[in-house]
Amino acid sequence: MIGGIKVEKATIRANVNDRFWKRYIDVVRNEVVPYQWEALNDRIPDAEPSHAIKNFRIAAGESDGEFYGMVFQDSDVAKWLEAVAYLLEEKRDSELEALADDVIELLGRAQQPDGYLNTYYTVKEPGKRWTNLRDNHELYCAGHLIEAAVAYFQATGKRRFLDIMCKYADYIGTVFGRGEGQIPGYDGHQEIELALLKLYEATGNENYLKLSQYFIDQRGQQPHYFDQEKEARGETKPFWYDGGYRYHQAHIPVREQKQAVGHAVRALYMYTAMAGLAAKTGDESLKQACQTLWENVTKRQMYITGGVGSSAFGESFTFDFDLPNDTVYAETCASIALVFWARRMLELEMDGKYADVMERALYNGTISGMDLDGKRFFYVNSLEVWPKACERHDKRHVKPVRQKWFSCACCPPNLARLIASIGHYIYSQTSDALFVHLYVGSNIQTEIGGRSVEIVQETNYPWDGTVRLTVSAESAQEFTLGLRIPGWCRGAEVTINGENVDIAPLTKKGYAYIRRVWRQGDEMVLHFSMPVERIKAHPQVRVNAGKVALQRGPIVYCLEEVDNGPNLANLFLPRDAQLEAHFEPDLLEGVVVITGTAERVDESAWNDELYRPIEPRTYQVPFRAIPYYAWCNRGEGEMTVWVNEK
Ligand SMILES: [Zn+2]
Repeated sequence: MIGGIKVEKATIRANVNDRFWKRYIDVVRNEVVPYQWEALNDRIPDAEPSHAIKNFRIAAGESDGEFYGMVFQDSDVAKWLEAVAYLLEEKRDSELEALADDVIELLGRAQQPDGYLNTYYTVKEPGKRWTNLRDNHELYCAGHLIEAAVAYFQATGKRRFLDIMCKYADYIGTVFGRGEGQIPGYDGHQEIELALLKLYEATGNENYLKLSQYFIDQRGQQPHYFDQEKEARGETKPFWYDGGYRYHQAHIPVREQKQAVGHAVRALYMYTAMAGLAAKTGDESLKQACQTLWENVTKRQMYITGGVGSSAFGESFTFDFDLPNDTVYAETCASIALVFWARRMLELEMDGKYADVMERALYNGTISGMDLDGKRFFYVNSLEVWPKACERHDKRHVKPVRQKWFSCACCPPNLARLIASIGHYIYSQTSDALFVHLYVGSNIQTEIGGRSVEIVQETNYPWDGTVRLTVSAESAQEFTLGLRIPGWCRGAEVTINGENVDIAPLTKKGYAYIRRVWRQGDEMVLHFSMPVERIKAHPQVRVNAGKVALQRGPIVYCLEEVDNGPNLANLFLPRDAQLEAHFEPDLLEGVVVITGTAERVDESAWNDELYRPIEPRTYQVPFRAIPYYAWCNRGEGEMTVWVNEK
């Protein structure tokens, strides 16, 4: 239990009524969350059972049977509960809330008297708790449950779930540490660190902050805990990935890490916690490590879509500029984690480069993980697909079409909780400033200097770069509005009550700081020019040499076979091609498409030869590019983001 509770809001939340994001939230509410509930209860015919709820019933002594599923099966229930919490925050729904309350009571009954709560070890390997931190995700599951409990408390004001998880966290705090009789370890899959930080923010209990710090500081120290643990288990084989612990970012202490390595989701969850901790504690060396890693990831190891982790082996980072488009991994969860990290970096330092990456991942590499109606999911987000080639052994991980439900169900519920919580990413606030990071139709009510302020955002973003912000202050009030000027934008204009404001001298690190006495009904209109941009990759990205990608505003485009015919590799975009953008309301739930004239090489000139000396003949073809996130909603076919340039 927690005493002296002090409730702090981790973020300020806007109510989203945006055409683009509200549709996604409704898909999560009406499709994804109900479907996941059925899956968690093994009621989906033809799908592998999840057993996740059943595992809790068995752990609670209310059902017979054996544990079934992954060691981290509990986390599926946690992510479902977290998504439900954000949905309830958006709109109270007594039926959904009652369902969640029942699950929370079940968790309470499955909790052991000392606070421990994990169905795998309770049911399958009792007595073996904390014996394989490297592989078995115990603290990872705890972290997801904690995140869910914090979200549920903030959404509903109900303490039950939070109390259950505080009891568990308090117990974890007695088990782990450098003290006598404590385990000097940390989890193989980072997650507990960022979760404890949220628990600290929700409760004000500094023990949780310190425990999070401990897990971060202890990681990678010598003697290496994973070696000690392995020895205690009687294992002799070196770890499969590289023999060491780069996979878990535990090869060296975190402050010495200069390059993102290993499993991408683990890495980014850890960086998220590091950034949050550095912001809370003012830890300068941790801040520097975050900044170094940020530069490495976003300038050397990130896809144009905000995808990260270029290798299927270990679902991992590789090395600088190694960004293959077809054998890519770019797990949906990794892009989601990039959003979490960017959000925390903004707490550390107000710099538009973080929000730019957050926006890039949000509008491209995260939502590409789900089809438009929320029924099917990609784990791997490829930038180039030739369906036939997915039969190759080294491309088996790349699916040509989204899949229903996987036995390892990490990505779909992760995406559900991100989309349902999009309102948390739009604004942040300091004592006398309000920052706008994302342009999303929404309204927010907050207090600045003790007085209430409401801001209404109206926009047709990401299709149109015009945003109207209406400020309603309780009374005339002076404060700063920090407006993010998107990094992709080369022409931004701002008017206040119809008068132009020269933002150039007011802009610092991607934000225009507008300080004034705001009065009731002040209206600001932002214009971000949104031409079609031809984007080139750094010349070191070998696979993209001679190629170009199309981007408009925050949206990255791709070409699909259904619009452009097969063999997209034989399509060339002339440098002087006229590129037109227009909105198609009936296509893919309404998207701006890019059209123009491209060229193809005449394949018939080859007859049946494989190689020949020839000056290829080309002919002109119309082409159409659609937003990358919306690809594969019209059946199976080829897709490419990077197009040959001529
Ligand atoms: Zn995933």
